[in-house]
Parts: sequence; C-alpha cells; structure tokens
Amino acid sequence: MPPTRVQFSAAGMEHSDRASEETGERPASPALWWVNGKGGEVKWSFGELGILSRKAANVLTQPCGLARGDRVAVILPRVPEWWLVNVACMRTGLVFMPGTTQLTAKDILYRLRASKAKGLVASEEVAPAVESIVSECPDLKTKLLVSPRSRPGWLSFQELFQCASAEHSRVETGSREPAAIYFTSGTSGSPKMAQHSHSSLGIGYTLCGRYWLDLESSDTIWNMSDTGWIKAAIGSVFSPWLQGACVFVHQMAQFDTDTFLDTLTTYPITTLCCAPTVYRMLVQKDLKSHSAPPTPTPKKFLKLRHCLTGGEPLNAEVREQWKRQTGLDLHEGYGQTEVGIICANLKGQEIKPGSMGKGVLPYDVQIIDENGNILPTGQEGDIALALKHTRPFSFFSEYVDNPGKTAATIRGNFYVTGDRGVMDSDGYFWFVGRADDVIISSGYRIGPFEVESALIEHPAVVESAVVSSPDPIRGEVEFVEQLPKTITGKIKRNVLRDQEWGRT
Ligand code: ATP
Ligand code: MG
Repeated sequence: MPPTRVQFSAAGMEHSDRASEETGERPASPALWWVNGKGGEVKWSFGELGILSRKAANVLTQPCGLARGDRVAVILPRVPEWWLVNVACMRTGLVFMPGTTQLTAKDILYRLRASKAKGLVASEEVAPAVESIVSECPDLKTKLLVSPRSRPGWLSFQELFQCASAEHSRVETGSREPAAIYFTSGTSGSPKMAQHSHSSLGIGYTLCGRYWLDLESSDTIWNMSDTGWIKAAIGSVFSPWLQGACVFVHQMAQFDTDTFLDTLTTYPITTLCCAPTVYRMLVQKDLKSHSAPPTPTPKKFLKLRHCLTGGEPLNAEVREQWKRQTGLDLHEGYGQTEVGIICANLKGQEIKPGSMGKGVLPYDVQIIDENGNILPTGQEGDIALALKHTRPFSFFSEYVDNPGKTAATIRGNFYVTGDRGVMDSDGYFWFVGRADDVIISSGYRIGPFEVESALIEHPAVVESAVVSSPDPIRGEVEFVEQLPKTITGKIKRNVLRDQEWGRT
C-alpha cells in the first residue's frame, strides 16, 4: 500500500486520506494523542481534528470578531486547544502567534504591543499577568480564556466552542500571505518577530518531516518543545501531520525524568525530539533498564526507534552516553526560527560525533567570509544559505516592522545565519559558536563549543558555558550551581559575558 499523505492547502489542513481512515486502511493511530499524566487523555483522528478545528475557527471569527490578517497571541500550555487554535488560524487566515506560559507580564506586554495583536487566547495561569498590562495594549480587542471556569472580562473558549457550528468555509490564503509570527528565543537580546508565510510552514516542513524526522504515517512523535517556539511547529504540527503521523503530547508542566521515562515505556512513541539539555539530564540517570528493544528488560522503551535534538549544540560526550545507555543514535538538527532546519544528521547517514551533520533540502549551505565569498573546506567562517533567484519558499518573510534587521541578514547572494562554523571535506558542518560568542584571545579565535565539549567530558561537569573574560592572562574556569538560560533552556552566554566584563 502506498504511504498515506496529508495534503496541505494554504488556508486549512485537509487530509486526502480521510476515506482510507474511515475504511480502516489507514493505521489506527490518531492525529493527536494527548495525555496529562493524571488520567486525562484525548485522541483525535484527522477527521475529528477537521471537525473540531472548524468549530474553533467559528469561535475565532464570530463571537471574537477576528478577521483574516489579524494577529492572535496564543499563550497556552500543552493543551489540545492549542492545536485546535493553530489549525483554526490557518482556516481563517488569522496570524498565529504562540508564546510560552512562562512569559512574564512584561514579556506579554512587549509581544502584544510589538505585534499589535488583535486577539489573545490564554490559559488561567497567565490571565492575571495579562490583566495587569492589558490597559496598555490599545489594539487588543478580544481575550479568550481556555479554562473550565469563566473569568470576568474574558470570553470563554469552552462555552463558545460547545455551541459553535462545525461548518466552516476556509479562507483561500495566498502562499506568501502571513500565517504565523514566531518570536526567536532571545538568546542574544530581545526576541525578534519572525513572520512566516503559509508556504514556509506548509511546504518547508514537509521536507523536514520526511527526512530529518524520518516520519511515516505509522509513526508517533513526541516532541518535548514548549508550544511557544518554532520547534513546536516543526515537531508537533506541520512536519508530522504532513506525513500523516501521530503527534503525541504529554502536558508535563515541568520536566521530570521519571515521568519522561515512564511515558516512553508506556506509549508506542517511535520518534523522540528533545533539547540537548534534556539529554544532558537524562544521561545522568541509569538508562540501561530502559534501553531499546531487543534488550530483554521488562521496562524497555516500547517502540522508540529515532531520537532527535536541536536548538543548541549537542556535546559528543552526551551523544556517546545516550548511545551507550540506550543503543540509539541521537540525530542532531541545526536550525533557526527564521529558516527552519539547515543541517542535520539524517537517519542512515554516518554520524561524526560533534558535527551537526550535512546541509539539508531545500538549502545550499556554505561557509562564507565577510565579503560573501565561499571559503574552502576546513576554514572557519559564517554559516550561510545560498540564495538563488528568489527567496526560498521555506524562509521567514521578514522581522516584523524591522526592515533594517531583515536586510542585515543578507550578504551578497547569501542569507547569513549569525553563526560561525566549518565544513569538512565530506560536507559535514561543525558548529563553532554564535558570531557574537566567539572568543578572541591573543589573536586566536576560540570557538566556545569546542572548549565546552572538552569540559563536559569531566564526570563532575553536567554542562558548561565558555565566554570571554577581560583578563586574558588569568583565564579561569568558574564552577556555578546554575547557568543563565532562556525560557527554552538555551545557555545565555551573553549574560555570562556581561557579568565577566562588568566585574572589571
Ligand atoms: P535570538 O535570535 O533571539 O538571539 P536564538 O537565535 O537562540 O535567539 P532560535 O531561532 O530559537 O533563537 O535559535 C537559533 C539558533 O540556535 C541558531 O542560530 C544557533 O545559534 C542555535 N542552534 C540551533 N540548533 C543548533 C545546533 N544543533 N547546534 C548549535 N547551535 C544551534
Ligand atoms: Mg537567532
């Protein structure tokens, strides 16, 4: 039987294989499988997702009064409604703008004002923060609360959803029309608003689902990323659904190793995607009893076959330990909110420990110098994407209201990532550091990642971050209880660097 395919249309998600789902030809796995660890469980087939998202679309447009092109901030934890609102925005031409529930009132204010959002969908935990700043957001006209309880000043998603019609005609959006705005992680400053079109999300992530995530319709992917980041779009929405795969979600408020391991031994998860920091924590545990089949232990991972990571460099030591303990390789991807996955270790390709793999479709990845010339292999330079005649369909359209910053990403015929790296003679890319993080000492350029990877080999070191210090002679390594991180868990080397330089 040929693999089933989900057909993506610009303004809505329809699946061409509903008939095969109904006749039972399609694997029984749902489109969305959500659990909360407290007995709550939701399973929606693609057909049900279609019906429910049409109802959600009617909620957004009718009682909320939102219209095509309006921006909607969606600050929800990992609840099924997040997926409904996401698809509903595509159906209606609304611009989906997710944010993590860890945002503070100040962060929310920044986002609502910068985006001039017309609508806000939020959960109870962020409602007080929203209420404290909402008077400063004149553009916001609708607040929708996802909660079993009602709250003064908010429309209730649940109530409106109950009586909404399941009939909805989707808006025929253009491929270049804005579909979503994702805020970057803010690792090196304020988060930037990267706007994506329907084509960049819809078509761009097909390739990622097929190749890096290696998904088929029989797969179930558990992507641990928070709903607020582009990785949720990659790993929990577009790439899996475009392959007809099942998206598994655990509404874990805070990462907990035991719950995590239990989940992998209880549910038929085939594909796992976590940030490097999660794997760093996990390898501190004894994972041998959870190792991959066919190890004859009672608590083995049920179906796990493909493990992924990205968002930060993965130290070779962590990859090696994961492999030693579970028998599974870690396939690292390197990418950005702006352009998606750029390089990856694809399944079946030789993995060179410490490398982030080769450039992936649709990109032509190169290392260039400051004048936009391609450097020979082995030489460090800026990681860049070659631009052919037009801007690649998988690219972000712009940083909203920031043409200067958008233009600054282009150098000659290249998009410049802002990261430094090296390509070896086999076409593998090696991450050196963010351009701002590279350390200059006595005229030598030192990539922090290389030093960090050496430090982490010591058994007493869980993770490390290396930054420049104004005293080049002393050069000391400091042991701390915790490293400063973004909400996504990325190490903020710029904060450490500022501390170092501020001290002198
Ligand atoms: P900001 O742009 O706001 O400073 P950010 O760059 O961290 O934040 P993201 O778009 O979430 O925002 O992250 C992309 C960046 O993360 C990349 O440019 C790179 O620096 C880093 N990154 C992602 N994946 C990897 C990886 N596998 N190895 C090394 N670095 C990575
Ligand atoms: Mg960035």
